[in-house]
Amino acid sequence: MSRRWALPAIALALSLLAAPAWAEDVAITFDDLPTMALSPTTPYAAVTTKALLAGLKRHRIPATGFVNEVKLEARDKPERIALLKAWLDAGMDLGNHTYDHPHFSTDAAAEIAEAANGEVVTRALLAARHRKPRWFRHPFLETGATEEARTAFEAWLAAHGYRVAPVSMENSDWMFSAPYDEAVGKGDAAEAARIKAAYLAFTAQVVPWYRQAALDVLGRRPKFIFLLHATRLNADSVDGLAEILKANGLRPVTLARAMTDRAYAMAEDAVGANGNQWVARWALSLHRDMPWKTLPVPPAEIKAMADRLQGAGGPPAAVSKPNP
Ligand SMILES: [Zn+2]
Repeated sequence: MSRRWALPAIALALSLLAAPAWAEDVAITFDDLPTMALSPTTPYAAVTTKALLAGLKRHRIPATGFVNEVKLEARDKPERIALLKAWLDAGMDLGNHTYDHPHFSTDAAAEIAEAANGEVVTRALLAARHRKPRWFRHPFLETGATEEARTAFEAWLAAHGYRVAPVSMENSDWMFSAPYDEAVGKGDAAEAARIKAAYLAFTAQVVPWYRQAALDVLGRRPKFIFLLHATRLNADSVDGLAEILKANGLRPVTLARAMTDRAYAMAEDAVGANGNQWVARWALSLHRDMPWKTLPVPPAEIKAMADRLQGAGGPPAAVSKPNP
């Protein structure tokens, strides 16, 4: 190669190295706003919200947050509503996650009341910006135990301008979150750092598993929708999470963009399959096997800590079941 060509060739090679090779799109979603926490005080929620939104903006990650308006009911309700406004100010979207995060089995009327009651503040905040709520995320990913319940509830959603926000990637972040909150609350920085490292190590294992599982089931990798929760742990982990997405070639996009993937339009009538994420639902619809045998599981020590804390503080605010 002559010297004349060497420099442009080197420059091209460097630019290719610098530009990440995106494999798929991923929409990042956060449930249980304003925050899922061991002791959800407003100052805690404010610290979490500020750090989370700053991190998302730093990495140019567009996110959708799903609100449980019951969490606004406090003496300082205006301050809590201001946290939701901060999401909109940061360019993020807000969706409905029901008022009180109930289980949904057969009672469509109760689920409809929860969704209607769960959008009062959020709809007003969006209306002030000439927008409307567009997304609904089922608590515990439970879409209805009977066909009647599911159909009746989805008819209400459609009539009120909602689309269901599916989940096709998750990392059991809720399990790591309570132990992390406890360590932060005690001022134990070493323990918090240890839990955060375990969380990111687990995420680095489970993200490729979802990419492979979707490939096994669909024969291709779809645009993913990643379920996370509004936690201090995620607020403190945005840099690490962004690095894991990049290492997997996952480009953060809006939920609306991810939803253009045809996989989300596929008939999916997993009645009774409550709590399944969508890769497992596609597997049911297409009669394909899920690679459950290779599913990474969170460290037993973390699970034990989460069990102890949930025993003390009531049921988890949100659970997704990676297991069949
Ligand atoms: Zn939830």
